[in-house]
Amino acid sequence: MVYLLPPATKAQTNGQPSMTSRVSTIKLNLFTTMAVPKRRQSKSRQKMRRGANRWKAPIFSTCSDCGASIPSHIACPSCGTYRGRKVLEVEAL
Ligand SMILES: [Zn+2]
Repeated sequence: MVYLLPPATKAQTNGQPSMTSRVSTIKLNLFTTMAVPKRRQSKSRQKMRRGANRWKAPIFSTCSDCGASIPSHIACPSCGTYRGRKVLEVEAL
């Protein structure tokens, strides 16, 4: 948005805008103009953006040895195996 100063008096103008009014117009433009989106974002795009922040339930797999539900890429906390190999010593509670 451009804010123009009120027109200068006839004595100042002489057909051209006075120096003071031109300088202050440039200063105002620096602080009043900002980027504005050209078009409204479609519902699809809006939902795609918000979908990235949506909560997703963690995916669990079953242990091949004991059948417990475990998160992927983690040694089984109940039997201590990872991809069929014993990697942890699990103590009974
Ligand atoms: Zn297991």
